[in-house]
Amino acid sequence: MVYEANAQRYGSMKYNRCGRSGLLLPAISLGLWHNFGGVDTYENGRAMVLKSFDLGITHFDLANNYGPPPGSAEEMFGRMLKTDLAPYRDELVISSKAGYRMWPGPYGEWGSKKYITASLDQSLKRMGLEYVDIFYSHRPDPNTPLEETMAALDLIVRQGKALYVGISSYSAEQTAQAAAILQRLGTPALIHQPSYSMLNRWIEDGLQDVLDENGIGSIAFCPLAQGLLTNKYVKGIPTDSRAASTTGSLKEKDVTPEKIDKIIRLNHIAAERGQSLAQMALAWVLRGGRVTSALIGASRVSQVEENVAALNRLDFSNEELTAIESVLRG
Ligand code: NDP
Repeated sequence: MVYEANAQRYGSMKYNRCGRSGLLLPAISLGLWHNFGGVDTYENGRAMVLKSFDLGITHFDLANNYGPPPGSAEEMFGRMLKTDLAPYRDELVISSKAGYRMWPGPYGEWGSKKYITASLDQSLKRMGLEYVDIFYSHRPDPNTPLEETMAALDLIVRQGKALYVGISSYSAEQTAQAAAILQRLGTPALIHQPSYSMLNRWIEDGLQDVLDENGIGSIAFCPLAQGLLTNKYVKGIPTDSRAASTTGSLKEKDVTPEKIDKIIRLNHIAAERGQSLAQMALAWVLRGGRVTSALIGASRVSQVEENVAALNRLDFSNEELTAIESVLRG
């Protein structure tokens, strides 16, 4: 069936300015790391992407290696673009990344100009795009001068292959250095993509200050700790969950009794707010306006719907924040 986007799609989504840029990002974005690969059901992935767009999610996050197999998420997304989303290209913010192992040999990973430029060309081909909106250095490379990696990002913008650039998982110190180099080159860093959730708060320890000082936005990956911050693992590991999947990066050993204890207590606080834990966990990541967008994953359409409905209740009382804090620190 020919897809026609929901006419009401901009009615309820919230859009936040990304740092000191002209770009607005939806408060909730969709990532295609899991469940959109060659091993997954194409129609399920397509349904999630189209439902997301219908709910006002304009930003879709990919990387060269998403799959499995690596590259297949970009291919699947390219197919959706061609068959469904082509008329809406100017309403979409599409990102990709290079940094992890993508092809054999010394030029298939990390941060050299050789790797980054070739990888972006491959990503564009897989997605059938002329440009991506955001391109990231996926991880810092300890052995390549930061100047070279940043010069590669500057180059691809000048070539018209990316509109904006970002960095992912760079420490506070590396981010300050990268921001200064990019500023000098004339291609300011748009965005940082760090992991961030109630169970993983490393960005509060310096990185967020660097981002604020430099006018760089942020998009938090794994805001649900890969599904832990929902009610799904409270009674064990369901067979249709990421922790049970052979291709998932969440492992059975990650579902510890200590975490489940916290999750049960957080679930109570969420219920009192009239939210699911997933919804409260997303609202919590977005609290105070320091994070531009929460970058969710999903395995089914109903999760996208539930997660977007987090926007119905983003505010927290001081009592709620204190109660959450005491669970997280307990
Ligand atoms: P989340 O923490 O949002 O976890 C998503 C998973 O949680 C889903 O696949 C689903 O798993 C479960 N889930 C989601 N919503 C619900 C719900 N309402 N109720 C119950 N379970 C739910 O994020 P991801 O770990 O998927 O990461 C999101 C994105 O972040 C990636 O797609 C990618 O774009 C980006 N990322 C970037 C990285 C980087 O290095 N820059 C690293 C990792 C991710 P289930 O299968 O169990 O249903």
